[in-house]
Amino acid sequence: MVQRNTWQRDRVREALGDAGGFVSAQDLHRVLRDENTGIGLATVYRALATLATSGEADQLQSPDGEAIYRACSTAGHHHHLICRSCGKAVEIEADEVESWAQRTASAYGFTQAEHVVDIFGMCAECTARGAAAAPTAADAASAPDPDARV
Ligand SMILES: [Zn+2]
Ligand SMILES: [Zn+2]
Ligand SMILES: [Zn+2]
Repeated sequence: MVQRNTWQRDRVREALGDAGGFVSAQDLHRVLRDENTGIGLATVYRALATLATSGEADQLQSPDGEAIYRACSTAGHHHHLICRSCGKAVEIEADEVESWAQRTASAYGFTQAEHVVDIFGMCAECTARGAAAAPTAADAASAPDPDARV
């Protein structure tokens, strides 16, 4: 690996931490561009992929198939509850899922099993706001809400 891009990756990691919730590469690129960092979108994609591989960031697929990222406050294995309306995320532990996954894997003779379990839904605030109706295309385009915080 060439190390000359390290400062850019550090900058992307920083921006990801500041973002709070789950964001796309485009979201981060917009922030970095506004700060005149000169970091291109391709670099943001590469940096996010590296951070996800090294476990410094979580990578998920949003319901509409976009890759979204978050700097996790928990280093260990965990799961997420994600609001599909505003993008708010809650980190959760799920002991029942852990034991179920272990049990199921070993029942089939599998070892070193891993799993990814995230729950997408509507958060309490969005539910209360009467967002029960399916989000419109305009809603989807404006998500995630930049004010969303855990
Ligand atoms: Zn997480
Ligand atoms: Zn919400
Ligand atoms: Zn788990």
